[in-house]
Amino acid sequence: MYLILIFIILGIVPLLFFSYVLLNTVVEKQINNRITKIENQGKVLSNKLNVSTYLATGDDDDIDKEVTRLADYFEGRIIIVNDNLKVIKDTYTLEDGKYLISEDVIKCLSGGSNTPLNNDKTQYLRLTYPITHNNSNEIMGAIVMSFSTKDIGIIRDSMERRVQLYSITLVILIVVFAIYFSGILTKPLTNVVNSIDRMTDGYRLDEGIAIKGYNEIEKISDSFSHMINRMQKLEMSRQEFVSNVSHELKTPITSIKVLADSLLMQEDTPVELYREFLLDITDEIERENKIINDLLSLVKLDKTAGDMHIAAVNINELLELILKRLSPIANKQNIEIIYESFRPVVAEVDEVKLLLAISNLIENAIKYNIEDGWVRVSLNADHKYFFIKISDSGIGIPEEAQDSIFERFYRVDKARSRETGGTGLGLAITKNAIQMHHGAIKVYSKEGEGSTFNVRIPLNYIV
Ligand code: ADP
Repeated sequence: MYLILIFIILGIVPLLFFSYVLLNTVVEKQINNRITKIENQGKVLSNKLNVSTYLATGDDDDIDKEVTRLADYFEGRIIIVNDNLKVIKDTYTLEDGKYLISEDVIKCLSGGSNTPLNNDKTQYLRLTYPITHNNSNEIMGAIVMSFSTKDIGIIRDSMERRVQLYSITLVILIVVFAIYFSGILTKPLTNVVNSIDRMTDGYRLDEGIAIKGYNEIEKISDSFSHMINRMQKLEMSRQEFVSNVSHELKTPITSIKVLADSLLMQEDTPVELYREFLLDITDEIERENKIINDLLSLVKLDKTAGDMHIAAVNINELLELILKRLSPIANKQNIEIIYESFRPVVAEVDEVKLLLAISNLIENAIKYNIEDGWVRVSLNADHKYFFIKISDSGIGIPEEAQDSIFERFYRVDKARSRETGGTGLGLAITKNAIQMHHGAIKVYSKEGEGSTFNVRIPLNYIV
């Protein structure tokens, strides 16, 4: 609706304005032409009059004829007055011998400018021209010339009618054009809106949207499809996550229930068996606890970047702290930890999140290692980034699994991961934390030979 209005305003208003201006310009030009012509004739006549005695006597047939011819030629009236305002000659013979007292004549005789009077109503043009003495420049009288501009008026009227006709035709065309085009323009948009409404009502993300229209609408439709695809993927991953979470949380509880039930079902259970089963139950509770903690870390990391507590942190000290904490686990498997630092690094990071990310990587390097193996941690930096490299002599990751290990709950070997207390959330947490620092993580691994995780994080945090 607004579109139609805009079309009409943009099309019609300038049209009417320009035709009005054009018409007036043409008429004005015609009138000016007429004035110039009459003025020239007036000048010629005045030159003749100032050398004759006509102004004093009114006797001169030649001049009489000339004046009458001129008046006839312009279809008008010429009155000649002397400096006493006495009418010497009136081609209409109405004022002959009388006195012509009018503002323009008095002004003209006293040397004032002779602006032409154009009377639109009577369609007459009146021009007063002074007769000046050849030598003394003294004003001897005035020629008052009134001429009809009716012919110009007729032309103006006919032009006006024609312009009106053209304008009306054009207005009709513009209105039809506006209605037609606003329909074409808004139809694809209406389709997009309808599709969106249908999806909102039924939440049918799979329906999609495919609108063929003009370019921009197609682009909107494409972007919308893109967004829907992404939402679909997110929805799927959300559902998968929820089902994974419930499965993972249920497993320890099921074990606890089985252990407790079997204790209850047996009569005269020996105390040793109680102890053994209760130890198993405690293990399962610990596992449940770990899953919940990991999930909470992940949820916290999923929040916005506004949750980052950025401070200048000495990365060398941070790595030393992590290694000190993890060395008891490494010692258990007799794994040697080698730490190399190429330079002191201080970076703007969220210490808690980075500690969690790097701890997970080093813990994995220990967990998925072989007896008497090694883990090498190195720290380096350039002017923009710092790099942490964690290599191990462990079991490695099969090529086809390397893309998936950062997914939540993904584990290459479920049994082994479970044995080592893994939840499948560690690397997802790590990747999230690194991404929140605008960093990157890459894995290089060969099954049976070991793995290397490369982490790159900017030295200065960019919001
Ligand atoms: P988990 O809690 O099971 O360790 P992660 O998300 O930390 O979960 O790791 C996902 C999976 O990637 C692990 O289950 C393991 O199979 C594999 N993985 C991670 N790090 C290593 C490594 N250094 N060497 C071999 N496999 C690894």
